[in-house]
Amino acid sequence: MGSVEAPPAPLRVFFIPFFATGHMIPLVDIARLFAARGVDSTVLVTPANAALIQATVDAAADSGLPIRTLIYPFPSSESGLPPGVENISALPPSESYKIDVATPFVRPAHDRLLRLHRPDAVVADVHFPWTTFVARDLGVPRFTFQALGLFPVCMMNSLFTNLPHLAVAGDDVPFLVPNLPHPIHMVRRELPDFLRGNTQIGAAMDDIGAAESGSLGVVVNSFVEMESAYAEYYYKTCNMRSWFVGPVALAAAGQGSSLATRGGDDPIAAANRARCLSWLDAKEPKSVVYVCFGSWSQFTGEQLREMALGLEVAGHPFLWVVRDGGDEWMPEGFEQRVEGRGLVVRGWAPQVAILAHAAVGGFVTHCGWNSVLEGVSAGLPMVTWPLSTEQFMNEKLVVGVLRVGVRAAEGPGSTLEEEKAVVDAAELARAVGRVMDSGEEAEGMKRRARESGKTARAAVKEGGSSHKGLSDLIEEIRAWHTFSHPSSKMMAHGALSSVNSS
Ligand code: UDP
Repeated sequence: MGSVEAPPAPLRVFFIPFFATGHMIPLVDIARLFAARGVDSTVLVTPANAALIQATVDAAADSGLPIRTLIYPFPSSESGLPPGVENISALPPSESYKIDVATPFVRPAHDRLLRLHRPDAVVADVHFPWTTFVARDLGVPRFTFQALGLFPVCMMNSLFTNLPHLAVAGDDVPFLVPNLPHPIHMVRRELPDFLRGNTQIGAAMDDIGAAESGSLGVVVNSFVEMESAYAEYYYKTCNMRSWFVGPVALAAAGQGSSLATRGGDDPIAAANRARCLSWLDAKEPKSVVYVCFGSWSQFTGEQLREMALGLEVAGHPFLWVVRDGGDEWMPEGFEQRVEGRGLVVRGWAPQVAILAHAAVGGFVTHCGWNSVLEGVSAGLPMVTWPLSTEQFMNEKLVVGVLRVGVRAAEGPGSTLEEEKAVVDAAELARAVGRVMDSGEEAEGMKRRARESGKTARAAVKEGGSSHKGLSDLIEEIRAWHTFSHPSSKMMAHGALSSVNSS
């Protein structure tokens, strides 16, 4: 009796993004990439967060990809957060820690859903260390989604291990971050707050460390050509594997959803989309500076006013996304003076589509990891204006390593609100000029940025490093599945054989 080879069952993978837009968007992109390779993909998400990604997931599903969301409740009553507040962007930055405090309460829901559905693998955000332990019980691999690149992750690991920041005499005294592939200097003021003594997050980092050692490795939104030395360093120091699958915004372009709706498809976002793209259509190539500070940062009125004056004085067309409400900060007559040259957008803008537009020539960014990668992917020089978390570390990559940007502020910055100095209009105008004007410095940055963009685009194409990184990751899950379920193939054989022989 001949045996009939059963087609392999599609793998089923669960993706669990953290409650921050900058973590959700790239993990949903990764879920779409898995689905585009035939993996049955489910994104676990809470109701208010589902609103941010449902349109993207539905569009991918409508185009035939095996992808869906699975909604579970946010622990509002346990955490004391008002109903509907489920994402750090729904809180002022000074209160974003409340989402971290709420996070452990979702553990029972994750446990229950994973045990109920028994996926073949779990790709869960670094903030959900317990998923490693459920996955181990189920006998399936857990991969950690690292929303940052390995450059800042390695910097943080070096700081945790070597503590050079505790050996300097003051917050503004530079120190070398030891043993990294590049000589990177930092000052204490610019470190993430958990490295400056916020013990609540410090303790959470210990749990994350313990769980990471049981995770099979990290999935990284980056590309190896930009961070290869850090992947090696990470493996050597943490004994953890990493799979580079990015830039995911580039890789996921066209995978069943439009990039224009990425991260926001409410009526305001839809109106902004039409307005921004048609405004850019009327501008000269590479003439516009795009200004955006991510999904949750905020500024004082005084700082917004200086920013407005700086963009006006810089003299280049600008498209500026302002998250903060009100307009008391707006300099008198500003809108009239910049009419036609400057567009101020409130709310959500289609960032990746804007950066890819031919009219955009530079990017003023807060250096969130996604924004850095999206700027690099678009081949644009950047003005860096980090505000919090690990953003000053990402700035080092842009300015010091890739050499595709300049700092907005001339003095040292700080991750703490109360220590921030106002960046004045003249400083910002000078920095914008340095990337947008012609001249040797700007031309060098533009050339290197174009090269980085080309490399990023090549990485996600068939045969590129990140395309292969995703194939390797899926093969790893398949091999694990086959190894831990050798009987599934045999049972399929048996069932078909008995049908054939009857
Ligand atoms: N983003 C966007 N439109 C906006 C603001 C942000 O599309 O108006 C996207 C941006 O493209 C990026 C993400 O939101 O993918 C922000 O992530 P990032 O890591 O840059 O910053 P965070 O918001 O986490 O500080």
